[in-house]
Amino acid sequence: MRRGLVAVLMCFAASSSHADSAAATITNGFVIEPQTMNRSVDACSDFFEFSNGQWIKDNPIPADRSRYSAYDEVTERNLTALKAIAEEAAKNVANRNPTSSPAEKIVGAYFLSGMDEAGIEAAGIKPLAQGLEQIAAIKQRSDLISVIAQQHKTGAGPLFGFYIDQDAKNTLRYITQLTQGGLGLPDRDYYLKSDAKTREIRAKYVTHLETIFGLLGDAPDVAKHNAATVLKIETRLARASMSKIELRDPQASYHLMDLKGLGKIDPHTDWANYFNQLGLAQPGDINVAQPKFFAEAGRMLSTVSLADWQTYLRWNLAHATARDLSSAFVNANFEFYGRTLQGTKELSPRWKRVLGNIDRSVGDAMGELYVAKFFSPEAKAGVLDMVNNIKVAMHDSILKLDWMSDATKQQAIKKLDAINVKIGYPDHWRDYSSLVIDTTSYANNNMRANEFEFKRMIAKLGKPIDRNEWGMTAPTVNAYYNPTMNEIVFPAGILQPPLYHLKADLAANYGNTGATIGHEMTHAFDDEGRQFDADGNLKSWWTKDDEKNFIKRAAAIEKQFDEFNPIDQLHINGKLTAGENIADLGGMKIALQALRTAVKAQPQPELIDGFTQEQRFFIANAQSFRSLARPEQLRLQLATDPHAPDYARVLAPIANMPEFTAAFSCPASTSPLRPIEKRVLIW
Ligand SMILES: [Zn+2]
Repeated sequence: MRRGLVAVLMCFAASSSHADSAAATITNGFVIEPQTMNRSVDACSDFFEFSNGQWIKDNPIPADRSRYSAYDEVTERNLTALKAIAEEAAKNVANRNPTSSPAEKIVGAYFLSGMDEAGIEAAGIKPLAQGLEQIAAIKQRSDLISVIAQQHKTGAGPLFGFYIDQDAKNTLRYITQLTQGGLGLPDRDYYLKSDAKTREIRAKYVTHLETIFGLLGDAPDVAKHNAATVLKIETRLARASMSKIELRDPQASYHLMDLKGLGKIDPHTDWANYFNQLGLAQPGDINVAQPKFFAEAGRMLSTVSLADWQTYLRWNLAHATARDLSSAFVNANFEFYGRTLQGTKELSPRWKRVLGNIDRSVGDAMGELYVAKFFSPEAKAGVLDMVNNIKVAMHDSILKLDWMSDATKQQAIKKLDAINVKIGYPDHWRDYSSLVIDTTSYANNNMRANEFEFKRMIAKLGKPIDRNEWGMTAPTVNAYYNPTMNEIVFPAGILQPPLYHLKADLAANYGNTGATIGHEMTHAFDDEGRQFDADGNLKSWWTKDDEKNFIKRAAAIEKQFDEFNPIDQLHINGKLTAGENIADLGGMKIALQALRTAVKAQPQPELIDGFTQEQRFFIANAQSFRSLARPEQLRLQLATDPHAPDYARVLAPIANMPEFTAAFSCPASTSPLRPIEKRVLIW
């Protein structure tokens, strides 16, 4: 739901964002992992291979993954831990154990319903029956927007996105948000580009649509016709959509208006009826993020035939739940979204998919059980200590900047000081007492969980901002910065070995999790984040000259990444990945500064495994990015992901850091350092 203007800035690639982590065994005095390196390679010439060569050799991508990384290692380990938690809870539910906590009851029952393969197979298409009836009952044009509202309420996403979130220009209130959407392919460009690879994916998408219509009961020629209809509608929506790069400009997606204003953009649609159906008699102020898109959507709603809309809505209904339906739907869904788009060889085992769904649906219940076992108050205190040291380092670094005026520096410090920090898990777990989760039907559990979440979201309107809310669940192996909250958030899931260890060598912790903390903090000052002030409002605090200086420096990092060519003729898109790349570079610089301060108070061994402190910092950082990706996944990432491929996230920052060349005593002939006129220095 958190899309569009105030999308959270996740730290790592989207595909690693779901799930979980656990630290069962911990190596005392954990340091970098010398056994995973390839020390036969020169560190200065190829630092990624030097730091990770052996790991790459030893870790082929598992068949049910499209990529495999340090984050995926933790995710896999944690899935295994969560499975044990869910199975224990399930046993207690089956035995009606009276001592089970509410969270255990929810997780146990949900897991049992999801593992009931026979029941799910027997139900077949039945979970879609009610939605299909609503669509079939569309008789007149005015019914369309009502049915779209019904679908939005139950978790499907036809035509556009709706959610409630902070007003980007007045973050003390929630408002209604409407965003572009309605596409089945990962981005508008998949509909608009005409190169061979894109055409091939589009053809396979049409085949997938045909398969789904076949499963909904259409004869082959009807299914074929319907697939073409969906592609036609979605292509028109794609043409009216903003590109991913245009979406990086938060001002471009801010258009505050009331219902009357929306009526001027789209005079064809009864928007009051839409909001009424959602249970919002008074939608209040609305941010229509992309007015041009809504003008086109309105024209389409008033001109495209009802039969074609019914076809499009049937697809959306099936698409929203395909991965949780019977095996025919699950396999079809995997064939296109797993195999074709990401190159994944095999579907994940059911238990992993069910845990992923529980995490998305009732994540706080599972999170509560998870942190009780796998996250200690000491770990939280240790991370907080690093956060504080890194904040001080960032403070010093801002004051020392030679390209920024004192006036802007003062505002930057004000923003830095105001950053809220969340570590581990929420102060209060979500109250699921009004949600019924039982063992009888997985589909019904999913439906009720969706409705619960929708009601919870709607109820925010008019209420004070919930500062306790988290945008990721506790077991998630990821982190984020949220610009409208001005907060950095680190779930317990990411604070696990080998990414973080309470008792680790400080150099390893600062190079790894320390750089991640610095990365998230820098997001407050990247090309997007810098446009929000200390209170999270989209409001400039920069002098004109300082802004110009920043943009010039950001352009240099865009250029640096444009040079990378990971596969085929495809280059990294410097503009799409600018925010993450700025955060990587800034994060490393300030984490290294913080390490230098931290070791003064807490001296560390100068040499471990033959590496100096600063060498260990850089190696730990490179090891946090060890990963392999399938070619299909890499192409998808280059087209859609604001994160650059991991090897570039290792090689690019060190090419801007004389600190690296000094740490490894690189001679001029092999030094990765860029010449001074090309070197990037922002934060
Ligand atoms: Zn990030």
